[in-house]
Amino acid sequence: MIETRGYATHDANAKFVPFNFERRNLGDHDILIDVQFCGICHSDIHQAKQEWGPSIYPMVPGHEIVGRVSKVGSAVTKFKLGDLAGVGCFVDSCRECSACKADQEQFCKVHTAATYNGTEMDKVTPTRGGYSKHHVVDEAYALKVSSDQPLAAVAPLLCAGITTYSPLKHYKVGPGSKVAIVGLGGLGHMGVKLAVSMGAEVTVLSTSPSKKDDALKLGAHHFVVTSDKANLKPLKGTFNFILDCVSADHEMDMYLNLLDVYGAMVLVGLPENPVSARAFSLAGNNRTLAGSSIGGIKETQEMLDYCAEHNITSDVEVIPITKIEEAYERTIKADVRYRFVIDMSTL
Ligand code: NAP
Ligand code: ZN
Repeated sequence: MIETRGYATHDANAKFVPFNFERRNLGDHDILIDVQFCGICHSDIHQAKQEWGPSIYPMVPGHEIVGRVSKVGSAVTKFKLGDLAGVGCFVDSCRECSACKADQEQFCKVHTAATYNGTEMDKVTPTRGGYSKHHVVDEAYALKVSSDQPLAAVAPLLCAGITTYSPLKHYKVGPGSKVAIVGLGGLGHMGVKLAVSMGAEVTVLSTSPSKKDDALKLGAHHFVVTSDKANLKPLKGTFNFILDCVSADHEMDMYLNLLDVYGAMVLVGLPENPVSARAFSLAGNNRTLAGSSIGGIKETQEMLDYCAEHNITSDVEVIPITKIEEAYERTIKADVRYRFVIDMSTL
């Protein structure tokens, strides 16, 4: 086994502490990654605090992982020593079911091995994520990362990037689309950059008036503060597509009513409690309320290549690993600008 260390939390109310653990020895198709940066996703917080149901502890979160390949298994073809590699939200799946065959491994019919707070394909061995020095992963579930972009700012693409790219593509956002992004956090700010790059007219709907200048700098065309509902009145029935990136419980109807005829609102934010909407908010204008979950390996690679080509990265605040708690607190307070990324050399 390969000795490594990371930071773990031992229960829903515990603080993060240094944690020594082992990665598996390299199989023929595995690569060893020396992790350089790992983003902090709000999903890390939901799971560390057990907001989505029972969690597996000790938990080493982190699914926005980038680093350098320091060892390769005998059959590895996609990576060589010294290459950059990324790992996102899952590290394995059955590879044979209809979902895996359709490049939707996140919906594997047998088992998707989540990068952390999950289990390997044996459904027993707990997985541990990227708040750690080393990662071992099958090359089929690792992504190629461009060396032309600042690595810390690429890390968040592995989750925040693909989670926003995938629904924007699926709903054919492009020139002429009127798009609203709800919640300017890690996902939201990537949603803005990507939707703008695809040619859409983008409005940010935010609870934080202080984020206006940032939103416009990110490329948004309009910024509207949602805490005063009067601000939303002129927007009724105007958007083709709304991407809801909010991490906390919130009302649906006030956003749904902003959709135009056949408009769709897609939830990527995953708050703790069930959402509810008035049937009238959906029947009116023939609206769709839908969800979207990350993206498969093929689409994640497509997104990384797209971001490299269009010079898109995340706006990041790089922190030492000792500041996880502080970063969590600020993220919960919606005070993230716009993704915390851990510099693993500080471990
Ligand atoms: P984040 O950085 O914390 O951003 C969330 C944003 O939501 C905040 O910055 C804030 O933006 C807004 N917000 C917070 N509380 C709110 C409230 N009470 N009412 C309205 N808006 C509020 O989180 P993230 O990392 O982007 O993740 C967002 C959500 O997506 C999380 O639930 C996460 O678990 C989920 N997620 C889902 C997937 C998926 O595959 N579907 C993947 C990754 C993450 P403003 O200040 O602009 O209001
Ligand atoms: Zn995430």
